[in-house]
Amino acid sequence: MDFGDSPEEAAFRARFRAWLAENNPGLPTSSTDDEYWAGMAAWHQSLHRAGFFGLSWPTEIGGQGLSSVFDVILDDELAAAGAPPRPSLGYLVLGILEHGSDEIAQRFLPGIISGDERWCQGFSEPDAGSDLASLRTRADLEGDEYVLTGHKVWTSYSDEADWCMVLARTDHEVPKHKGISAFAVPMRQPGIEQRPLKMINGVTKEFGEVIFDGARVPAANMIGEPGDGWRLAMTVVSHEREPGELGYVARYRKLVRQLAEQVGQEPDRYSTDQQRELAWAIVESDMLRHHVCRRLSGRLDGIDHGSEGSVDKILMTEVEQAVGHASMAIGGAGVDGGDDTWLKVYLYSRAQSVMGGTSQIQRNLIASRLLGLPR
Ligand SMILES: Cc1cc2nc3c(=O)[nH]c(=O)nc-3n(C[C@H](O)[C@H](O)[C@H](O)COP(=O)(O)OP(=O)(O)OC[C@H]3O[C@@H](n4cnc5c(N)ncnc54)[C@H](O)[C@@H]3O)c2cc1C
Repeated sequence: MDFGDSPEEAAFRARFRAWLAENNPGLPTSSTDDEYWAGMAAWHQSLHRAGFFGLSWPTEIGGQGLSSVFDVILDDELAAAGAPPRPSLGYLVLGILEHGSDEIAQRFLPGIISGDERWCQGFSEPDAGSDLASLRTRADLEGDEYVLTGHKVWTSYSDEADWCMVLARTDHEVPKHKGISAFAVPMRQPGIEQRPLKMINGVTKEFGEVIFDGARVPAANMIGEPGDGWRLAMTVVSHEREPGELGYVARYRKLVRQLAEQVGQEPDRYSTDQQRELAWAIVESDMLRHHVCRRLSGRLDGIDHGSEGSVDKILMTEVEQAVGHASMAIGGAGVDGGDDTWLKVYLYSRAQSVMGGTSQIQRNLIASRLLGLPR
């Protein structure tokens, strides 16, 4: 595989680097501060307006129609400049592209991609996380609308969202996987209560609980056919497990770079063990970058990785948590009133083995779907 830039790629890299020098919003370290989440919408819109978001998605829906190599270049440059990662929305876009009608795709995808319409994902419930098919939120048809009743939880960005991709039960007579449908639900209406949840690292802007009590959604906003919600959910979560889709490589490389700069300024302050933790995180982040390049290169050759997304998710988790350990080793916990940014990075890294499907569930999927082991 040739990792060098073609002339077209080199020109894009130079153009993006120059733009970034002027437009890096300088948000705080990822996922540690409400200011980071509050600034993400403006960052998304600014990337899109300048032609640097949705690079590999079709032009008809607001993408740039480029090959996924350009996403790798974008991530490289974001990491090098210490800029925030690109927003992770690929799972919503690809889920709607694959399962929504043309009308649904045309209605919703341009707004998601431009960042003009904010979205959240209402899948998990208090008693339905790993066992998502047990979800109990119901959608009952009344005329040409469905009425929603239920309780979603861990809904990222629910406080800012204009729309929610909701999974709800529309048929109670069939096996549980088959009775679920998916909807694009407008969030700003009576019958929806949003309760923010505070994370262990103090962030309150990332996620919340959403209570539906008589909220309404036009039947025309169903994504796919009645009963297709499970298939859509599987597409969405499989893309949610792909680091190439999420742009997380830039985040990890930005963090280890900051830590390396800190060590570079005062190397004698750090023991061999501390430096080894950082070295391991640097190696892991670089490994993930190469892995993502390989996956995207496979995609260019038309390879669909399917269940291998579970392997990617575990790799991504290992990297995030190696970066979290390095953050504590080098940055410290900032107790007694010191700077606790690195503690917050560490605490956030613990969530990676839960969000998008836990590591245990990924291992079950690898065992059954890739290795063919008995259940
Ligand atoms: C930061 C973050 C953001 C999130 N954002 C969203 C979002 O935007 N939208 C959304 O819908 N959800 C979101 N989630 C929820 C996430 O998808 C769920 O937390 C996850 O699927 C696990 O479900 P649960 O929390 O109910 O845990 P449970 O399913 O109750 O699992 C508890 C423990 O049991 C283990 N376990 C469960 N079943 C099995 C099994 N069969 N075999 C082996 N072990 C098992 C799990 O691995 C875990 O360790 C988010 C979560 C986090 C942490």
